[in-house]
Amino acid sequence: MRHIVILLTVFMLTISQKTIACDCNSEGEFLKVAPKSDFVSLIKVTKYLTFKDIEGKQTPMSMEVEIIDIYKGKKTNKPIIAVDPDGKKIVIVSTNPEFRAKAFADLQKLTSTQLVLLKNGQVIEAHKLANFPKAYSESKIELTGEVTKTFDNNGKEIPKSTGTENTLQVIQDENTATIREVGVGLGLGGKPAPTKNETQANGNKGFDPKSGGGDPTIFYDSNSCGDQIANEDGTYGRSPQSGLNHELNGHGLAIIKGEDNMQIIPTLKDPDTGTKGSLDNGEMKVRTTIDQKGRVEQGDSKRDIPK
Ligand SMILES: [Zn+2]
Repeated sequence: MRHIVILLTVFMLTISQKTIACDCNSEGEFLKVAPKSDFVSLIKVTKYLTFKDIEGKQTPMSMEVEIIDIYKGKKTNKPIIAVDPDGKKIVIVSTNPEFRAKAFADLQKLTSTQLVLLKNGQVIEAHKLANFPKAYSESKIELTGEVTKTFDNNGKEIPKSTGTENTLQVIQDENTATIREVGVGLGLGGKPAPTKNETQANGNKGFDPKSGGGDPTIFYDSNSCGDQIANEDGTYGRSPQSGLNHELNGHGLAIIKGEDNMQIIPTLKDPDTGTKGSLDNGEMKVRTTIDQKGRVEQGDSKRDIPK
């Protein structure tokens, strides 16, 4: 058994994890730093040595670890500094494995880039794992996505350009978008989680362009086909993933960019409900851009847009 002492200079450490990935740098998230590093290893924390109070939580600042496996390089006597192995971006949070699988599969349908769901809930692009030894990658993965295609009536493939671009923007942004199951637990602000598809922002950050954006939480009903949503061809409804596209790539991305606009447009009547004066600018932008393009890419009817 080899023991070394780790000095922590970043405090984004996930304490609950039994094993963490460590690196000699603190220059970003693990997947970004590791390929450029001389030494990459899997460690097990055997003892926490010192703690610091960070926002009321006793956070370990140094620890003694056991090296389980070395993936790259040789152990030296240089101090090793831990970095956050979890990263941010999109996470699917649910104790229900069926929901995790369905939400991840629906997310994958939106993009032509293959995704993986890691065991910590994080969704990343599959090619990001290519730099790592197979055994390491496999130990981190909960599910690997399968890229699916959509075809038009003539059998011609419809490229998922918009869905791919927007989904990757959410994944690559520093802000975290969290996907949660509707009706389970508490939503933001301690209120019960919504029972229908909804996107919430942490505080009001998402509605203030000056703030640089916030972290959206998407409450997603993976079984809902939106039966009350009117389409321009007179039908109702859409695939569940088009609902996820609306919330994540529409409202979620707007919150991330700090661009959501909740100004009501009093003259508009919502075709779904017949109610006048209930639609805001942000909702209209999502419906006319994200929804319509996404509907085509998913093989769904286009949405009825109020005039
Ligand atoms: Zn909406």
